[in-house]
Amino acid sequence: MIDAALYSSTSYANLNPSVADSPALPILSVAPAQIIRGTGILQQAGEAIARLGKRPLVVGGDRTLKLIEPLLLPVLEQAALSVTQASYGMDCSEAGLAILRDAVAHHQADLIIGIGGGKALDAAKLLAYQCQLPIATIPTSGATCAAWTALANVYSDQGAFIYDVGLATCPNLLILDYKLVQTASRRTLVAGIGDALAKWYEASVSSGHADQTLIIAAVQQARILRDLLFQKSVVALQAPGSAVWREVVDATVLLAGVIGGLGGAQCRTVAAHAVHNGLTQLLQSHDTLHGEKVAYGILVQLRLEELMQGNRLAETARQQLLKFYAEIGLPRSLADLGLSQITLSDLKSAAEFACRPGSDIHHLPFAVTPEHLMAAMVSTTVLGLNVPGTEARPAETGHLTNP
Ligand SMILES: [Zn+2]
Repeated sequence: MIDAALYSSTSYANLNPSVADSPALPILSVAPAQIIRGTGILQQAGEAIARLGKRPLVVGGDRTLKLIEPLLLPVLEQAALSVTQASYGMDCSEAGLAILRDAVAHHQADLIIGIGGGKALDAAKLLAYQCQLPIATIPTSGATCAAWTALANVYSDQGAFIYDVGLATCPNLLILDYKLVQTASRRTLVAGIGDALAKWYEASVSSGHADQTLIIAAVQQARILRDLLFQKSVVALQAPGSAVWREVVDATVLLAGVIGGLGGAQCRTVAAHAVHNGLTQLLQSHDTLHGEKVAYGILVQLRLEELMQGNRLAETARQQLLKFYAEIGLPRSLADLGLSQITLSDLKSAAEFACRPGSDIHHLPFAVTPEHLMAAMVSTTVLGLNVPGTEARPAETGHLTNP
């Protein structure tokens, strides 16, 4: 397990003191400055990219870079740009970022183009921030809203979540080409749906009683996003490339980003993402996608509300999600995440990481210990409010009638 204390934000401050040392300003980073979207639209994006710089460094994964080369390079060459590319490695990690900064210096890049899934885009955004360069993002799946947000997750070289970094701005340009997204597997969009659903379940808990205009707006958008996904996901997944499929991609890549942007730091994540962060500490969880772990984390969060508060609405919401997850193929349990053989000590490590000081799980309106969390993690599919033998005690739960 990673010692979180070793990786406080000071580890980032060392990388770029001029940015990290500036006093915290009340900056709102709501949206990318420009969004271009359409089927095959990348072919027409050369001019918009060229307005941002003349010497782009394209950052992506090895596989994506190879796949995208015949599509992207002619566009950039036609715009008379001097381009080179660099792989971010396996994860958006500090070691990987150091290599990328060398690539920026070597190429004298004046623009970063991030292409790929969440980790590639996070690496590209953080690189651009550290080097104070403009950035264009090109998502190749509907798996996350990373192409939109002013936020990057940093992982260890082994893929364990370490910390996240708030960036100064959203990307300068987002190019959403549905034709590219359509080449990704169905599973990536399913994961994106799971990640986008979390916006409502987390924002309504952390900010449901907020009285600030933009946060109220963010929470309501999160509810709309959830309802859109409930209505359209099943049909969309059956017809990739169709109009309804494009609407669902807009929901996971764009609207999910709007909510993060409007809500800002006060309206971000609670237990669902904390559970994701805990699970990434286990090597055996690395075969599942971010949004899959987050989707399971939503069930855990609701389960905690049931166990700790006797919250019957949470139970109803969980049953509704279990049905929806079964329809589209999101994981409902540790076994669905490939963790049916998880040892007690691994489960405890994940729960302890999720409950470490400063974790977003503590935005829940009640205290959570690793023991409570473990009880919730193993009972996400249970029918009804209660589980025999859980750690929840009547004095803590208050409303439980049958502890
Ligand atoms: Zn997420």
